[in-house]
Amino acid sequence: MSSMLDHTHDAAARSWVASANDPATDFPLQNLPFCSFRRSGSQEPWRIGVGIGDQILDLAGWGFADMNALMARPGHERRALRHRLFDTLKAGAPELALLPQAQAEYAVPCRIGDYTDFYTGIHHARAVGRLFRPDNPLLPNYQWVPIGYHGRSSSIVVSGTPLRRPRGQVKPPDADAPVFQPSARIDCELELGLFVGPGNALGEPFGIDEADEHAFGLTLLNDWSARDIQPWEYQPLGPFLAKNFGTTISPWIVTMEALAPFRIPFTRPEGDPQPLPYLDSPAHRAGAAFDIGLEVWLKTPACAEAVRLSRSNLRHAYWSLAQMLTHHASNGCNLQPGDLLGTGTLSGPAPDEAGSLLELTLGGKQPITLPNGEQRSFLLDGDQLGLRASAEKPGFRRIGFGPCDGVILPAA
Ligand code: MN
Repeated sequence: MSSMLDHTHDAAARSWVASANDPATDFPLQNLPFCSFRRSGSQEPWRIGVGIGDQILDLAGWGFADMNALMARPGHERRALRHRLFDTLKAGAPELALLPQAQAEYAVPCRIGDYTDFYTGIHHARAVGRLFRPDNPLLPNYQWVPIGYHGRSSSIVVSGTPLRRPRGQVKPPDADAPVFQPSARIDCELELGLFVGPGNALGEPFGIDEADEHAFGLTLLNDWSARDIQPWEYQPLGPFLAKNFGTTISPWIVTMEALAPFRIPFTRPEGDPQPLPYLDSPAHRAGAAFDIGLEVWLKTPACAEAVRLSRSNLRHAYWSLAQMLTHHASNGCNLQPGDLLGTGTLSGPAPDEAGSLLELTLGGKQPITLPNGEQRSFLLDGDQLGLRASAEKPGFRRIGFGPCDGVILPAA
């Protein structure tokens, strides 16, 4: 995978945008994430932007009708664009007008035709399975087939959009009949979302070694979940209204090219089934996993500062991004530019690496105590939940994903 590295990953490269050279920035010259933006409070059309330090470079006039058109371009054009952006923003290049991120507002970065949520976090699958099936936490298909369900794209919102607490059918275990009421168990799910680049035609699957061509980039994704609605409705067809009342994503898409330095080998634990041949190859094993650090933060109305609830990493995923893509299209299903594939909750192996409150509080039985003495099992009205992600490696610049925040409003 070292062939994917080039001068745009050089840690010594600097930008003429001073804030991009700050070691703490999410957006150094080596990142170059895309967003859809306009001036705050304006009615301007949404435009493609590139994050650099605390500024945005406007790509109007660069030849892309919209983000979906950019996403549809082949991989070699994506890499050529990255090189052009790097040359435009590197130290010594002529300075251009930029918009400070503080003066911008963001949209969901592209038209998301279809949204699929996978379940690649095996530690999450085991922990949640243990809550519901103590004797049989992991279902037998899990280690053979990437599990997923078709979600809903209309309720995907960009970071900063408040979400109303949903009402739904809830059936207490000892009750004879369900009641329709505001959910009392609103939870987060720490996920990454993979945006599809070039798609595939209906009936034309692709091989695992072609999957990278179809991967555009990653965003943070919070799959808000109503844990009291979910158990009553999910059998036999899977998640429904417990999931589709809102899904928050970060405004920024970090490209697969920017993430190249953070690839790591894809491995399976000793004794686990190896992936079937259509989900396996030497190149895949060499570098299809990623080392991307993930965090969950909570800020309640009464706490002065946000509190970190959990840390995890994409490296704990049981199935790779390439396997998600390849499996999704393996029956001939056509993926399209801008489709979004969620990874599923990316919990780590340790209890404090859980990516949901469901796991952190053992199904609500062990509330979290915050530094100010407040307790939480699930989210209360006014709580703000934030996800963060960044990738670091010696010899390379740290790159980050920007914020993925949402606040819960009272039920309507
Ligand atoms: Mn999910």
